[in-house]
Amino acid sequence: MAKYGFLGMGIMGSAMAANLVHAGHDVTVWNRTAARCAPLVALGARQADTPREVAATCDVTFAMLSDPAAALAVLEGADGVLGGIGQGRGYVDFSTVDDATANTIASQIVANGARYLEAPVSGTKKPAEDGTLIILAAGDRGLYDEVAPALDKLGKKRLFLGEVGQGARMKLVVNLIMGSMLTALSEGLALGLKGGLDGAEILDVLDAGAMACPMFRAKGPMLLSGAYPTSFPLKHMQKDLRLALALSEKLDQNLALTAASNELFKRARIAGNGDKDIGAVFSVIA
Ligand code: NAP
Repeated sequence: MAKYGFLGMGIMGSAMAANLVHAGHDVTVWNRTAARCAPLVALGARQADTPREVAATCDVTFAMLSDPAAALAVLEGADGVLGGIGQGRGYVDFSTVDDATANTIASQIVANGARYLEAPVSGTKKPAEDGTLIILAAGDRGLYDEVAPALDKLGKKRLFLGEVGQGARMKLVVNLIMGSMLTALSEGLALGLKGGLDGAEILDVLDAGAMACPMFRAKGPMLLSGAYPTSFPLKHMQKDLRLALALSEKLDQNLALTAASNELFKRARIAGNGDKDIGAVFSVIA
């Protein structure tokens, strides 16, 4: 059985790595803040001291890191992935980044003789725990086929989208829609509450009609509660909106609604809600 490495024991990475361990795989984990590896070690994973050690000792190294800067940081330096990865090995990056970052990572991995797959995921903490993510892969087709059984432990659906960058683009498309849906829900609830309507009844009406959706069902009660326990950190959603806007500049596509949503998420982040759930955007609207 292939030896797997996993870099990044955040909300998503720790749940995904745990599913690989539960599936019986030999998994070596690393995290910048080493203490966050403890629950995985307790499950039976090994812990490495550096990304280099993971890449040098595992057949395939997976990564799930916060943003483009983090995804690039683990590659570089004396302790980085590039110092350890080599011929025949694979690198699969689940982090949500932009297409240019995905291509930069791909060229560095391939220059070392290894293979690269980008594989951002749709779905949050609970789907990561349940192994029901949607995996948006692109890059090396052979590596995709090789890791398909592992991907199937992490997700309920996977797509191979072709050239490196197409996974990042698909992920940004999905998240710009989600960000704007959440700001629309927040504005509707805020207006309704001010107008004397009952919040639960607004959600009930939405759920009975054509706009019913799992996201409204999950986030609606959260907005009304005023507490935002984190499944998807707000700072990461704002990063995704920012990256979608940057892509729109490159492709000459206007994104008026996304620009407005980004400003609201930015305001919520600056107000100190970055580590709270994306639902906290409601706190700067209501
Ligand atoms: P998270 O809990 O904030 O975890 C971020 C991870 O990145 C941590 O392991 C963190 O290490 C690491 N990291 C940050 N900066 C680093 C650096 N400079 N060098 C090395 N490691 C660094 O985030 P998450 O929710 O798991 O999300 C991870 C990625 O998945 C993001 O790209 C996010 O947009 C995407 N995503 C998230 C969700 C979700 O619902 N949560 C859903 C789909 C996609 P430390 O522990 O040391 O800080």
